[in-house]
Amino acid sequence: MKKPTMSIDLSTAVPPVFQVMLKPHGPICNLDCKYCYFLSKEMLYPGSRFRMADDLLEAYTRQYIAAQHAPEVTFAWQGGEPTLMGLAFFQRAVELQQKCRKPGMRIYNAFQTNGVLLDDDWGEFFKANDFLIGLSIDGPHELHDAYRVDKGGRPTFDRVMRGLSFLKKHRVDFNILTTVHAVNADHPLEVYRFLRDEVGTQFIQFIPIVERDNATGFQEGEQITNRSVTGRQYGDFLIAIFDEWVRRDVGRVFVQIFDIALGAWLGRPASLCIFRETCGEALALEHNGDLYSCDHFVEPHHKLGNIQEIPLIDLVTSEQQRQFGQAKRDTLPRDCRECDVRFVCNGGCPKDRILHTPDGEPGLNYLCAGYKAFFRHIDQPMRFMANEIRQQRPPANIMAFLARQEVALQQRLARAKRNEPCPCGSGRKFKQCHGQRSSQVF
Ligand code: SF4
Ligand code: SF4
Repeated sequence: MKKPTMSIDLSTAVPPVFQVMLKPHGPICNLDCKYCYFLSKEMLYPGSRFRMADDLLEAYTRQYIAAQHAPEVTFAWQGGEPTLMGLAFFQRAVELQQKCRKPGMRIYNAFQTNGVLLDDDWGEFFKANDFLIGLSIDGPHELHDAYRVDKGGRPTFDRVMRGLSFLKKHRVDFNILTTVHAVNADHPLEVYRFLRDEVGTQFIQFIPIVERDNATGFQEGEQITNRSVTGRQYGDFLIAIFDEWVRRDVGRVFVQIFDIALGAWLGRPASLCIFRETCGEALALEHNGDLYSCDHFVEPHHKLGNIQEIPLIDLVTSEQQRQFGQAKRDTLPRDCRECDVRFVCNGGCPKDRILHTPDGEPGLNYLCAGYKAFFRHIDQPMRFMANEIRQQRPPANIMAFLARQEVALQQRLARAKRNEPCPCGSGRKFKQCHGQRSSQVF
C-alpha cells in the first residue's frame, strides 16, 4: 500500500482498522479563521493548559499501535494548530512510534497545519521523518484572506506562502486543503488554477463550509452562518473545476472528491467517510485523552471516554460508537434512499443533515442540491473513465476522447443553421443553445 496522499482522509479503513485525529494542543491555534468549527471547543476544558502530556502520548502510541492489525498505521496530527506544540513534541512522538512499532509495521504521520510557523527546522524534520503535510490555503490572496486571519484580524496569505516555501525547499510531501465558502465559491477556476499552477500541488481536497450559527459550537440548530457555501454554489464550484480537470489534468492533479466519485462508479466503497454508507472509523482524541466519535462531534454527547481510564480499543468498538456509525445509514430520509446518486453520495455527512425533504422528512443534507447537480453532471465522463480502468487502460484517455468530441461538435456547430436543432443534442434550436454560447460535450 502506498503512503497516504490525503491529509485528513481518515476513513479508508474497515474496523478494526481505524484512525484518530490527534489534538495534542486541543483547539488552541495561532490564527482566528472566522469559520473555524474548532476554536469554540476551548469552552469544553476551562482552565486547561491544552497540552498533551508525555505519559498520555506514550499511552496513546502504545494503545493505537497495539489495536491496529494492518501492516501500516497513520498518526494524524491536527488542531488547533499542531506546530504550536513545538518540534520537540513531535521528535518524541516519532521516537515513541519506533519504540512501540510491531515488527514489519510501517508508520506514517499526516500533519495538518495552517503553515504560518513553518521554517527550515520543521522542513528538515518533516522530510527526515517522511511526514505528509496538509496545508490549508483557500485560494489566491483576496480569497484566502477573506476568512483566514490571525488573532489581530490580519491577513495570513503571505505567511502561509512563506511556510509553503519551506516545504518545497526540503521536498516535503504536501497536499492542499481548501475550504469552499461564501467568498471563494464563486471563483472556482481562479482557486483551482492558483492551487495547480502557483502553489504547484498535485493533491487537493475541497471542504465545504457549512457552519452552524449558534452559541455552543455544537452540531445543533438549523441556522447557518452567511460565511457558509450554499448547496448549489458548492455543486457549481465542483462542476466548473471538474470540467477543466477532465479536459487537461486527469492523472496529473488529484482532487479528492473526483477520485472518490471514480471509485463509486467502479462499484468500490468510498474512501472518505462522508460518502460511505456508514461511518465511525475516524475518531478524535483531545489533549487530555478524551476520545470522541468524530472530529466534527467533539461535544459532550459524543464523548466515548478517556483512554487513560478505558482502553482505546474498547472505546472504538463500543456500542455507542457502533451506533454512531450505523446512524449515518439508518437515519437516511426516503429522498436519499431513492436518489439516483445515492451510490456515490450516501446522504453526505450527518453533521450537514439539517434540511427537511419536500415532504417534510428531516435529515436531508444541506448540500444536497450541490451533490445532486455535481454527481449527475459527471456521470458520462465517470462511466468512460471507469470503463477504461476495467479494460486496464488509463482513465486519462478521457482527455483525448473529449478533445476529439469537441472538434467534431465544433465542426457540426459551424455548419448549423439558426433555426435547426442544436447539434449538441439538447433538443433546443441552435440559436437558443450553442448558437449563443460556447460549447462543451458533457
Ligand atoms: S460524522 Fe461525518 S465526518 Fe464524522 S465520521 Fe461520520 S461522515 Fe465522517
Ligand atoms: S444527492 Fe441529496 S438526496 Fe441524493 S443521496 Fe445525496 S443528499 Fe440524499
